[in-house]
Amino acid sequence: MSQPPVARRLRVLAFDPSLATQLETAIINQLTLHVKWEELDKGPIGEYIEVIDYDPASGVFYEPVDLNHRYLLAQDGLQPSESDPQFHQQMVYAVAMVTIQNFERALGRVTFWSDHRVRLDSGDYVTQFVRRLRIYPHAIRDRNAYYSPSKKALLFGYFPVTRKDKDNVPGTLVFTCLSHDIIAHEVTHALLDGVHPRFNESTNPDVHAFHEAFADIVSLFQHFSYPEILEDQIRRTRGDLETENLLSQLAQQFGQATGRSGALRDALGTKNQNNKWEPRQPNAHALEESFAPHARGAILVAAVFRAFLLIYRLESADLFRIATNGTGSLPDGDIHPDLARRLSSEASICADRVLQMCIRAIDYCPPVDITFGDFLRGIITADMDYAPEDEDGYRIVFIQSFREWGIHPRKITRGHLKTFLIV
Ligand SMILES: [Zn+2]
Repeated sequence: MSQPPVARRLRVLAFDPSLATQLETAIINQLTLHVKWEELDKGPIGEYIEVIDYDPASGVFYEPVDLNHRYLLAQDGLQPSESDPQFHQQMVYAVAMVTIQNFERALGRVTFWSDHRVRLDSGDYVTQFVRRLRIYPHAIRDRNAYYSPSKKALLFGYFPVTRKDKDNVPGTLVFTCLSHDIIAHEVTHALLDGVHPRFNESTNPDVHAFHEAFADIVSLFQHFSYPEILEDQIRRTRGDLETENLLSQLAQQFGQATGRSGALRDALGTKNQNNKWEPRQPNAHALEESFAPHARGAILVAAVFRAFLLIYRLESADLFRIATNGTGSLPDGDIHPDLARRLSSEASICADRVLQMCIRAIDYCPPVDITFGDFLRGIITADMDYAPEDEDGYRIVFIQSFREWGIHPRKITRGHLKTFLIV
């Protein structure tokens, strides 16, 4: 008998459906994800996830998709379609599984969902193992998507667009379950809850902000790990990821349709008075002014993103030197396709390393009362265990970037700092 395949290939939307209707982005809006092979029931229902497509607002159960159907196996799943609920089921399954895979690869172990706590008549609590996270792609008719720690479920909303402008047509339905970034963000909340259930207790201003920021960091760097998107973006930005590009505008359609710019987008930069996008400059006092979870979390995202940009700049310096004969300035016009490919490969490796460093850190964080400084300490300590030499200087880059944003580990003495910087 032959061996089962290594992966199941499934098509998803790379960004949001809105981008498929814009000429510039239509070509790259489809991705094929490689999901580790597992036996699946209709739903899909696998080892980690159970997709239940009940829409309470309409009282409808949508027919669950059968990803084992031979037609779907032969053509990488259903074709992306906004109007097909079965494609929505396929997409939430595929993106959620890739996020889980990234966690397991970084942590070097299997992941678990947080236990159910059940109160007995005696007043004592017992815990019950939760095998599968439930995902409801059409749970609410609302501009919202969230992880419910009590239901152990992700609930995605959908809503009609009411705004009318160049990006929106009134009446169009927006499905939050069709946004790669929203799915990855919500699954990360659930995965983090599985490791640290007490991060739901807001014992200091950083705790809730950390949950939001960490979910954004994972969705952002997971997106950067898809080389086909990177190559296209690098070609457009001529290798300079600090200029405006799609990757830094996550949850784009969601932000446009709700009339608010996404928190993550603000984390990386904003438009100035002339409507020109500018990267956000580090501010060591920002934490003293921002206490709302999203705004405060944006500071942590910005610190990690800056570390990534510095690492990418280090790793791509030789390629720029070769391409510019040492002058540092590229000739006008499109960059060579070979250069775009090599730069995107470097950027994708850097993004993956940053993603892994951030995920690995959660096993090194305190179980309660986390601060951004604790997270930095977790990143550095975990990476010291993983790569004791730090030949690439990534740890120094993280410390520098976090310091520029005013983030330091708690109770650190000068002696500690010395060890911290040397190792
Ligand atoms: Zn969130």
